[in-house]
Amino acid sequence: MAVGELTLSSRFFASANCSSVIRDSSSLILVCHPRSSPTKIILRHVAMLVPRGNLHKTIAIYPGSFDPPTNGHLDLIERGSKIFDELVVAILRNPDKAPLFNVTERVAMLEALTGHYSNVRVDTFDGLTVDYAAKIGASSLLRGIRALSDYEYELQMALMNRKLRPELETVFMMPAEKYSYLSARLVREVAQLGGSVKGLVPELVEEHLRGKLDPAFKLAEFTSGSREEKSESRKSRARKKA
Ligand code: ADP
Repeated sequence: MAVGELTLSSRFFASANCSSVIRDSSSLILVCHPRSSPTKIILRHVAMLVPRGNLHKTIAIYPGSFDPPTNGHLDLIERGSKIFDELVVAILRNPDKAPLFNVTERVAMLEALTGHYSNVRVDTFDGLTVDYAAKIGASSLLRGIRALSDYEYELQMALMNRKLRPELETVFMMPAEKYSYLSARLVREVAQLGGSVKGLVPELVEEHLRGKLDPAFKLAEFTSGSREEKSESRKSRARKKA
């Protein structure tokens, strides 16, 4: 029987008839009816097992604007989900910035894109990142490093956050090389100017961008379409004129 990271041996269960195991972050309660020498069996096994188990979950926050979520963000979320017990993708509510997508739209997109991870959830916050981390009991802060240019800013932020809250550890991760030049700002700029963002953002985000920037996207679709599609479209325009 497994309780989080703690595995109780079958030998233990063979020697005691346990009806339930209740666990919270600081305690382990076994409700057992041992066949022989009651207290002795429980104490021996609990004492053996507890030091090996990690009863504290590692919660990490991954803060950012995610305006919009890109494949680079998702690459990092996947990597983070593998090393933290729980990863909270935290969208910063910044009243000073006029975003392309409002917070509700970004939450909906990220929830749809991360729904298949059982240990990832999406939330929003404002104010200091360290305060939000403390509020939800996060001990790690995940940030992405793309190129050397990110490093200086990220280092400054990490050191300031460490000064504000020493117990919060910043963890940097690198995305796959193909996403190392990708930023939400670039995606917004390219999309707003009618360029194609295929492969840079998930299809769902592409659709939302298309909805927001309709005329520009129609142009991009036309200019990035195949030769056959373009020729067909030219023929159809010619037919209409005739
Ligand atoms: P932007 O994508 O414009 O940098 P965000 O504020 O949404 O803005 O970024 C949030 C976090 O995600 C930051 O730590 C940033 O370094 C990281 N990040 C963004 N894009 C990528 C990417 N392509 N690869 C790795 N990390 C990324």
